[in-house]
Amino acid sequence: MRWWGWGEAGHPAALPAHALDFLRESVGVAPSPRPPVALDRVRLDPPGLSEPVLAELRQILGAEGVRDGHEQRVLHAAGKGYTDLVRLRAGEPEGAPDAVLYPAGHDQVRAVLELCARCSIAVVPFGGGTSVVGGVAPLRGEHGGVVALDMGRMGALLALDHESATVTVQAGMRAPALERQLAASGLTLGHFPQSFEYVSLGGCAATRSAGQASTGYGAIEKMVLGLRLAAPAGDIALPAVPASAAGPGLRQLLVGSEGVLGVISELSLRVRPAPRERIYEGLFFEDLAAGLQALRTLAREHVLPDVTRLSDEQETRMSLALAGDGGAKGRLGRAYLGLRGYGAGCLAIFGFEGSERDVAHRRARALELARGCGALKVGRSPGEAWLHGRFAAPYLRDELLGRGVMVETLETATQWSKVHALHRDVAHAIAAALEGWGTPGLVMCHVSHVYETGASLYFTFIARQREGEEIAQWQSVKEAAAGAILDAGATITHHHAIGRDHVPWMQREVGAVGVRALRALKAELDPAGIMNPGKLLPVSSRG
Ligand SMILES: Cc1cc2nc3c(=O)[nH]c(=O)nc-3n(C[C@H](O)[C@H](O)[C@H](O)COP(=O)(O)OP(=O)(O)OC[C@H]3O[C@@H](n4cnc5c(N)ncnc54)[C@H](O)[C@@H]3O)c2cc1C
Repeated sequence: MRWWGWGEAGHPAALPAHALDFLRESVGVAPSPRPPVALDRVRLDPPGLSEPVLAELRQILGAEGVRDGHEQRVLHAAGKGYTDLVRLRAGEPEGAPDAVLYPAGHDQVRAVLELCARCSIAVVPFGGGTSVVGGVAPLRGEHGGVVALDMGRMGALLALDHESATVTVQAGMRAPALERQLAASGLTLGHFPQSFEYVSLGGCAATRSAGQASTGYGAIEKMVLGLRLAAPAGDIALPAVPASAAGPGLRQLLVGSEGVLGVISELSLRVRPAPRERIYEGLFFEDLAAGLQALRTLAREHVLPDVTRLSDEQETRMSLALAGDGGAKGRLGRAYLGLRGYGAGCLAIFGFEGSERDVAHRRARALELARGCGALKVGRSPGEAWLHGRFAAPYLRDELLGRGVMVETLETATQWSKVHALHRDVAHAIAAALEGWGTPGLVMCHVSHVYETGASLYFTFIARQREGEEIAQWQSVKEAAAGAILDAGATITHHHAIGRDHVPWMQREVGAVGVRALRALKAELDPAGIMNPGKLLPVSSRG
């Protein structure tokens, strides 16, 4: 992975010329490209672990399992959020781990945690490193050192139980590697976050991740049946069972624990037959209200597509402007929609996956209900275009950053009765904050995951960066959006997790007693407080 962005070195540019023209006209771009600094100009403090500690670590992990070279430290200095990339591109990350450790299995993780607890060294579990909320920021808290515990050598498939449709993996396994191995047996996990190409399954579990098809397959918390956790205080091993009434759901306390309680070393996950039929298509609604009504109706009747996305008017306009080559075909499409009265409407993508029979049944009823809410079918090409480009956005973001353009996303969820007000208020808060910086931007949104009782909203905003003040500009937009989200009674995060960035709002989300209860659990599992300090939980006023 590129240390300053997404993908491998040499990945082709993704921003077509007409898209750049569109951005130049709508938000403005830097007069000349702004490339990242050279790797050797990234400023880091020298690594600080003592030679005896390094020697002990090498004894546990072998020499190849302990790295403290410049490139490895830079690669583990941050996740892939907007502010991470701004800082990295400028060569000024907030810090870096003193060393990067590569355990090969649960017992090595355990031995590392014991050593770090004894020597007061903070441990940051590092899966794919794709956190967008500061989850892998190398914070040391009150400790003398900090290490990144990279799970990259723990990528094995341990067991596949065909009869039960479950798979057990080491937590560092990457999602694409698992899908490849499952495909050979006609199976799928069905977890496809936009960051799919790089995420680890342990990282997904630790963040309660939701994939793009989670409306159909469920988010990761529905998939985790059992897990093994190495905590500084000891191990927890919860076997794979379909359900359990053995007290509160301990599995669910560990799913979403963001590395602050311990390291998830192994996971058992539910798998499904790979779909034999896949139909992705586009529909247009007259406005967002009509689209929301349709999704709610489909949810009630249990005929939702597995991928269900509904863009608001702004996002639809942007998608149409950027679609294809920006030429005659795009203009023709817009003219057709205009003639049919959907000129300022909202595009939905419906993706159905499953057996031929199941897809035929669900799709027929879903389209009938959607038509009842005024939907216009626009065929398969928008759906297939979305499927084809579903992992492209992070590459585009790198190019925009290189043009002095801020592009950031945030997400939330609420009940149906509040979705409309949430959409209005958050979009307004983001737009007003950008205006406040004199950088009016494009604010757009789509419904990304749908439930019987509500939906999640995913906002994207694009604006010209305030050069030299990029972080302060971002911070004020983030604060405005977070305030609007919580005022509307929604959650601060539907799937990106708390990390470091959302900590200021955690207490408002779960209450003071809720925070204390989580702190008590942490104190029990991690008495020395070495696990991922500064994440998930606000620092206690009582220390
Ligand atoms: C472009 C882009 C698109 C994204 N799209 C989505 C999306 O569609 N859906 C979604 O849910 N998220 C998305 N994300 C966010 C991110 O990919 C998810 O949070 C993902 O689950 C993180 O997985 P990871 O392996 O990269 O974890 P990391 O980033 O390495 O870690 C995330 C957190 O989990 C902890 N952690 C990691 N591994 C372990 C472990 N084994 N045990 C204990 N703690 C651990 C880390 O310390 C950290 O706090 C996106 C991110 C980017 C950059």
